[in-house]
Amino acid sequence: MKLIFVTGGVVSSLGKGIVTASLASLLRSRGVKLKIRKLDPYLNVDPGTMSPYQHGEVYVTDDGYETDLDLGHYERFTDITCSKNDSISSGKIYSSILSKERKGEYLGSTVQVIPHVTEEIKKFIKKSTNKDDVIICEIGGTVGDIESLPFLEAIRQFKNENYLDTLLIHLTLLPYIETSGEVKTKPTQHSVKELLNSGIQPDVIVCRSNKKISKDEIQKISLFCNVPSNAVIPSYDVDSIYQVPNLLSKSKLDDLVIKKLHIKPPKKKDLTKWINFEILESRAKEDVKIYIIGKYVNLKDSYKSLYEAIYHAGVHNKANVIIKWLDSETINSKNVSELLKSASGILIPGGFGNRGINGKIEAIKFARENQIPFLGICLGMQLSIIEFAKNVLKIKNSGSSEFGNYKNNLISLMTEWNFKNKKIKRDKDTDLGATMRLGSYPCHIKVNSLASKIYKSKLIKERHRHRYEVNPKFRIQLEKKGLIFSGFSKDKKLLEIIENKNHKWFLGVQFHPELKSKPFKPHPIFLSFIKNSLDHKND
Ligand code: GLN
Repeated sequence: MKLIFVTGGVVSSLGKGIVTASLASLLRSRGVKLKIRKLDPYLNVDPGTMSPYQHGEVYVTDDGYETDLDLGHYERFTDITCSKNDSISSGKIYSSILSKERKGEYLGSTVQVIPHVTEEIKKFIKKSTNKDDVIICEIGGTVGDIESLPFLEAIRQFKNENYLDTLLIHLTLLPYIETSGEVKTKPTQHSVKELLNSGIQPDVIVCRSNKKISKDEIQKISLFCNVPSNAVIPSYDVDSIYQVPNLLSKSKLDDLVIKKLHIKPPKKKDLTKWINFEILESRAKEDVKIYIIGKYVNLKDSYKSLYEAIYHAGVHNKANVIIKWLDSETINSKNVSELLKSASGILIPGGFGNRGINGKIEAIKFARENQIPFLGICLGMQLSIIEFAKNVLKIKNSGSSEFGNYKNNLISLMTEWNFKNKKIKRDKDTDLGATMRLGSYPCHIKVNSLASKIYKSKLIKERHRHRYEVNPKFRIQLEKKGLIFSGFSKDKKLLEIIENKNHKWFLGVQFHPELKSKPFKPHPIFLSFIKNSLDHKND
């Protein structure tokens, strides 16, 4: 088994996840068998309970685990489907150790960071792997953080045990100083020193920079950081993250990794699909404005996969999608038409809680009444049903039991479906973590529906992350007025896709299609949404 660790230094947000995913894609293109894992130093057991404002989007895997958004990059860049074993946090490690300790499994020993925590980290890294696998582990955070120390210690031990099969890649920043007109290597030197404090010598240093790194600077890093100069790899800023694999291939990062770890790839590298995507990106010409009405509009990472899925669909439609983020709390019935008048498409993403729902409902009404292509995802779909009930069926006091006490809960917990007007109180002790409907489920599609035209299939599989469901009690009433239910769970109890008979392109989905979109395989829902938004613009 070969192990590659990717650490980051100097500052956060250098794109460690993209470098990891790009390296993985280069190795995959040579047929190397891979696992990509993310190790996060925080104490949450998983990111499921973390605010998207703090840590960005929660990415859900097929097997229903709530993970770090970097797993989204891994899946988008490679054809690998990640699993729950690929997301490891300090919280998960400690939780496993503490439960063993309570069961007396440590047989009287004092449980300590070394060896118990480090052994547990090593066990998690190797979990469900095969002997011939290459495992790439990205370490979250920046070296020097107190929280990452046990992870660095585990890496040190791995290196000590399997010197020839372990490789350390350290990503740093080379800042450009305008006044002196040069890029600076000192922060990189310091960051490598910080690693050395933990007993780790990097094998490869990837240097992020927005200016050309000269031969002299490479020599300097090589000399001071104790790596050969061919292991100092420049990583320049590029227009799109999807150009990074090509860039790192030119910098020979994958050649170096293969050589250093003595990997024998089964086939030659093939970058055709990346090159073709780059060509497609350069052809994206026609502007189209998509308005996204959300809660976390100030941090793009909160809707990472959504952003990427729209981008993929834009590129494949030769469109330059201009995303306008609107905070739902700023929208009301008076300003909605002014705010959304230049929208070619409107999208309401997933979300939790009742903050800003009135603004979202106004936006849905506007899209429905003005024939603007509309896509509602999860909460967005639930709100579309509430909007329809309120404004078309005129059902008074309608809502979702997630938001408060309503007479008519169009959306509610399944356990509430049969309790008329009764709100089930959540037990204070009920865990919020990992208790939703999570992961991939099959969905049956109604024939001749918009969904069937989009998917060209009767049975699909999509990933879910929600607690509440459409209350089937109102189904017939809604259908009579033109709402179409076009996607169902196998037992037909769960209503998963809605459409509007009287609208050009109106779709609500209970699942998250954005999680499965890839640059080479854009998701059909987003492809169709962007295409119809373009048509709407040119109408
Ligand atoms: N809050 C809603 C629910 O739990 C929707 C969730 C979502 O949009 N991901 O059902």
